[in-house]
Amino acid sequence: MVEVNLEHIYKKYAGNDNYSVSDFNLQAKDGEFIFFVGPSGCGKSTILRMIAGLEEITKGDFKMNDKVMNDVAPRDRDIAMVFQNYALYPHMTVFDNMAFGLNIRKNDKADTKRRVDEAAAILGLSDFLQRKPAALSGGQRQRVALGRAIVRDANLFLLDEPLSNLDAKLRVNMRAEIAKLHQRLGTNMIYVTHDQIEAMTMADRIVIMDTGKVQQIGTPFELYNEP
Ligand code: ADP
Ligand code: ADP
Repeated sequence: MVEVNLEHIYKKYAGNDNYSVSDFNLQAKDGEFIFFVGPSGCGKSTILRMIAGLEEITKGDFKMNDKVMNDVAPRDRDIAMVFQNYALYPHMTVFDNMAFGLNIRKNDKADTKRRVDEAAAILGLSDFLQRKPAALSGGQRQRVALGRAIVRDANLFLLDEPLSNLDAKLRVNMRAEIAKLHQRLGTNMIYVTHDQIEAMTMADRIVIMDTGKVQQIGTPFELYNEP
């Protein structure tokens, strides 16, 4: 059960003259599926990376259940991120890729196996656990990337254009799978995409961004019926 709050968030990268994110505000309710939509360079990934702790927040507070998270180490955040380019380790099996985040935290081996097996079953990967990523299709690789996030049992999932490397047909299938996954896990998710249809069909609420700011925010219904 988490409520996520972004309060007056600013980001200025070292060496840049301008703020990449300025006065960004968002209150996400427990279990909400939030989409960030907006043109390339408007700051979507920057916000995800600040939430994950991979990028420092210049000003403002990121809170989970009223606890300020700004200075919490990434690995203590209970947040799992799925990247656009999969970021799988080519020399590791699917099992080891999925177990990686748990192994570096010295998680109990039996518990890791149980969690990986369960995630693999959800994602239809049970028969592929001993393969290397090179022996998988694009869709299967994307599922492994999702699986690696699921096994962490996180409170918040961040998905940065997770489907943009897939062909159109697979993208449609994976949309449905991710929507199901969200229902099943019931956790908050923040999903960045260029794709309006993806946002309209999957989101609880959509944040339309423009140059580091919220331009509009609402449910697909509200945004679609905007005069
Ligand atoms: P989006 O995800 O919406 O495409 P980004 O968050 O990647 O946007 O980028 C927002 C702005 O911040 C852009 O102007 C980009 O050039 C700048 N930016 C992103 N990453 C860095 C970085 N590591 N150093 C400097 N500027 C960056
Ligand atoms: P991990 O890759 O298991 O998350 P690392 O210590 O290798 O852990 O990465 C540093 C931090 O970056 C992590 O603690 C985590 O917060 C974040 N991070 C990197 N990759 C991911 C991922 N796939 N899922 C969640 N968090 C990640």
